[in-house]
Amino acid sequence: MVVLSSPSGAGKSTIARTLLENEQGLNLSVSVTTRARRPSEIEGVHYHFLSMREFERMRDSDALVEWAEVHGNFYGTPRQAAEDAMAEGRDMLFDIDWQGARQLQEKMPADVVSIFVLPPAVEELRARLHRRAEDSEEVIETRLANARSEIERWPDYDYVVINDDLSRAFRSVRSIIEAERLRRDRLPGLYDFVSALLEKPSKADR
Ligand code: 5GP
Repeated sequence: MVVLSSPSGAGKSTIARTLLENEQGLNLSVSVTTRARRPSEIEGVHYHFLSMREFERMRDSDALVEWAEVHGNFYGTPRQAAEDAMAEGRDMLFDIDWQGARQLQEKMPADVVSIFVLPPAVEELRARLHRRAEDSEEVIETRLANARSEIERWPDYDYVVINDDLSRAFRSVRSIIEAERLRRDRLPGLYDFVSALLEKPSKADR
């Protein structure tokens, strides 16, 4: 479970999109949200857009593995898709905030690799949010006001990547995933492989 978090405008979504395009075997966990859909967003691809009542129904029936209120809207990770991926040994990317990251870390500490993306400077967040041109001025101001308290969460994460150059930040995140996949405790069938390596050849093979 690769968890990617950052304050709004640090470039996390672009890094996530590039990763999903380039990294085989990595699927995005599509969250549910009560936030209004942005013009560029597609239902079921970027989010499942729900009414508050629908969100509460999922939350109260334990259908969300984590959920949080972020910038005045509710967001959550559907349990079923995440559990199916885990059961099948598929890697999943979670674009969620620090509250969600903390809940996943508490529930599944051995399975979570958490990465925090930082902007090179706080002023850069404002510039990027304006360049994106998908949110109202009021929404941008709320997000900037929240950025400071989000940045303060950096020590909760396994890795921190500074996004001063998109392709370098992408390469860093990709390296983290590659290295984490090679961890001894994550290599499937390693025990059997090494046992076979160490098996003494039988007399017939000599
Ligand atoms: P946005 O509205 O810009 O798409 O997302 C706002 C924030 O909510 C981002 O930090 C994003 O990572 C976070 N977020 C998106 N989906 C989830 C989720 O399912 N759970 C949690 N905890 N945060 C989420």
